[in-house]
Formats: sequence, C-alpha cells, structure tokens
Amino acid sequence: MPEQLQLEVVTPERRVLAESVDMVTVPGYGGELGILPGHTPLISRLQTGVLAYVKEGHTQQLHVSGGFVEVNDDRVSVLAEIAERPEEIDAARARLARERMEKSLSNWTGLEEDFEKARVKLERSMVRLQLAGATPRS
Ligand code: ATP
Repeated sequence: MPEQLQLEVVTPERRVLAESVDMVTVPGYGGELGILPGHTPLISRLQTGVLAYVKEGHTQQLHVSGGFVEVNDDRVSVLAEIAERPEEIDAARARLARERMEKSLSNWTGLEEDFEKARVKLERSMVRLQLAGATPRS
C-alpha cells in the first residue's frame, strides 16, 4: 500500500474534511505549497485561495481563506477561518459580493486600515466564482 497523507480541514464552525489522500497543495503565504508523504514538518499561514488534493487519481478542490496549515508525520491539518467545498458555494452571492467589492475598492472611501480586509473579501469572491464554475452540473 503506497504511503498516504491524512488530510483534515477544520474551521471554527465545523470539520469540513477528513480523508486519506495522495497529495495536497495549499495556498501558503510564500506561495503554493505542495505536500507529499514524507514531507518535513512545517507550519504556515494560509492565504485566500484553492486547496487541492488528489485521491484515487481525482483532484478535488476547496476554497480556503485565512488560518494555518501544519504538516507533521504525514498529517496535514488545516485550521482555516473559512473553508468551502465547490458544491457549497452560492455563485450568485459570490457574484454580488464581487461586484460590491470591485465598486467599493475602485473608489475607496473607508478607513485605510480596512482596505486590506476589503481586498481579501474581493479575493474570496473571485476564488468562490472560480470554484463554483468548476462544479460538475447535471
Ligand atoms: P457576503 O458579502 O456575500 O456575505 P462575505 O465576504 O462577507 O460575503 P465571508 O466573510 O467570506 O463572506 O464568509 C462569511 C460566511 O459566509 C462563511 O461561513 C462563508 O462560508 C459563508 N459564505 C460567504 N459567501 C458565500 C458564498 N458565496 N457561498 C457559500 N457560502 C458563503
């Protein structure tokens, strides 16, 4: 039996995923982190982006935003502020959020310290739209 990784993704509200997988990529602060069995221990902050994992030859994706990933002893623990499977994403809501944030950022009237938060909100809406578009439809 080939070696596997135990991937767990949790948010403050729920456990989103717990599976044995072959490989994981996460959006780390310094860029994409590719993790295979035998990876050295690490802890990294997460950016807003796509977490992808390969299981039985299929690649699955999740939207994650904020939080941390810890790799230790073939366990990949993702403690994310936000995590969603593609089928959980409401594309219409994400489209409205993107429009709202694009408008607001292009003519920013809020506090300077809130600009970064607004930019991350826009990023989340864009990642949601990317993943919602990738959901297979019947
Ligand atoms: P909105 O303005 O549409 O509420 P937001 O940027 O304020 O978006 P977040 O802070 O990113 O929302 O997320 C708050 C909660 O709402 C999280 O639990 C997140 O999973 C959920 N959520 C936000 N947008 C969506 C969406 N388009 N589809 C599904 N869940 C969403």
